[in-house]
Amino acid sequence: MQTRLFIGGEFVDALDGATIEVLDPHDGSVLAKVAEAKEADVDRAVVAAQAAAPAWGRMAAADRGRLLLKLADAIEADADNLSVLETRDTGHPLRDTRNLDVPRTAATFRYFGGMADKFQGSVVPVEAGFLDYVTPQPLGVVGQIVPWNFPVMFCSWKMGPALAAGNAIVMKPAEITPMSALRIAELAAEVGFPEGVINIVPGYGATAGQRIVTHPGIAKVSFTGSTAVGKGVARSAADTLKQVHLELGGKGANIVFEDANIPAAVGGTAFGIFHNQGQACIAASRLIIHESVAQEFLERFTALAASIKVGDPKDPSTEMGPLTSTMHRDRVLSYIEVARSEGGQVLTGGKAPDDPALADGCYIEPTVVAVDPSARVACEEVFGPFMTVHTFRTDEEALQIANSVDYGLGGGLWTNNLSRAHRVARDLHAGMVWINSYKRVNPGSPFGGIGQSGYGREMGFEAMREYTEPKAVWVNVDAQIPPFYPRG
Ligand code: NAD
Repeated sequence: MQTRLFIGGEFVDALDGATIEVLDPHDGSVLAKVAEAKEADVDRAVVAAQAAAPAWGRMAAADRGRLLLKLADAIEADADNLSVLETRDTGHPLRDTRNLDVPRTAATFRYFGGMADKFQGSVVPVEAGFLDYVTPQPLGVVGQIVPWNFPVMFCSWKMGPALAAGNAIVMKPAEITPMSALRIAELAAEVGFPEGVINIVPGYGATAGQRIVTHPGIAKVSFTGSTAVGKGVARSAADTLKQVHLELGGKGANIVFEDANIPAAVGGTAFGIFHNQGQACIAASRLIIHESVAQEFLERFTALAASIKVGDPKDPSTEMGPLTSTMHRDRVLSYIEVARSEGGQVLTGGKAPDDPALADGCYIEPTVVAVDPSARVACEEVFGPFMTVHTFRTDEEALQIANSVDYGLGGGLWTNNLSRAHRVARDLHAGMVWINSYKRVNPGSPFGGIGQSGYGREMGFEAMREYTEPKAVWVNVDAQIPPFYPRG
């Protein structure tokens, strides 16, 4: 288990020797003491990245791609170890880290490994006699700040395209979940990434994070986290005119129409809200259901929710683990109290589990609350195993409820009516829409939001554009240019 900062190709202590205690959310025990990067450590990482960036950016794209492909292979070979590490650090059940998070991490690095030499420029037809070619140029050094909910997967989402495009990176994992990023850095060093191309600086947002955002040597900051902090990032980045990419919060609308396949919608909705204990920006946190099928759906859904096996995430049969920190568990519990005070009717869950074996962990039962769509808990991001329920009568009413929040990240709908499906998908205020499914992601499909969910996109060609700048080069091949000042 690596516990030190990764700077310039080696693991090093923080300059002032500071450390952060990383806790296991299952029982609160100390998993590791990890070096804590502060401003001076970030500065060191930027110097290392600046030294590495020019050669990395000039390397043949296929060679950069080959290193990313090798890293994907190394992650697959290390999958058993990496999934246990991620499970202990975050509380995600082992069955999910082993079957979803780590395979998706490898797949994303592989996708961008293949992308490196396919992302090409263009030639623009301009005036006769000129050749105008446009090449995507790397930005240089990019800063990447990630949250704690999918730490290993977010390494690939951010590092994959940035590295494929020829940038060097300085990444700050969340202070409570730094372990998998350090392991990815170790694997990258083993497969031959040049020193300084990847730098990992675990630390707090107010110190290490802010330094990344304000450092004049960093060309762009890609931030995933809460909307409140994201706004501060955009403000702080303005002083250096740094480019900013923001992946922020969400409040996913999941609309079930009267003609939906109800068993499929029940299963898809349960995955949409309870996977990863609901700690997902695209979680299906608002069920918006036609009143004629609400009772049947909710009977099935609450029975399923109550049957979910909550427990030690290291047990392969566990279906839902603890939330990732005590502070966050308390925040979600306090939202359940807010729901009650707003007249919400708790249909299932609503508290920590009674099992004494889970008493020291950050556990909460899968919770469903029927409440007015204007209630705080139906508009603010709770980010836990907590779903609100709202009924509607017409398609217009469903859309009005769905679009009544400030966020616009992911949303879903369940129907067998083809034109309704596409019409509602078009009218949903969201960057991503799933029809008859929920929460699908793929490295080729652009991921991101609108409104208070941020701007810019991860994944696909869009991500390569995020990490490159088009440079237009004009060549006078044989153009005859009359003198502008005839006297000369
Ligand atoms: P957060 O905003 O508190 O922290 C995110 C990261 O930013 C952490 O690494 C943190 O240390 C850092 N940070 C905090 N203050 C900072 C500052 N002043 N300057 C620079 N960096 C700072 O969010 P969180 O609680 O870790 O994560 C949960 C949030 O992330 C939720 O709102 C969730 O919706 C969002 N999220 C969004 C996406 C997406 O793709 N849109 C994906 C996952 C999570």
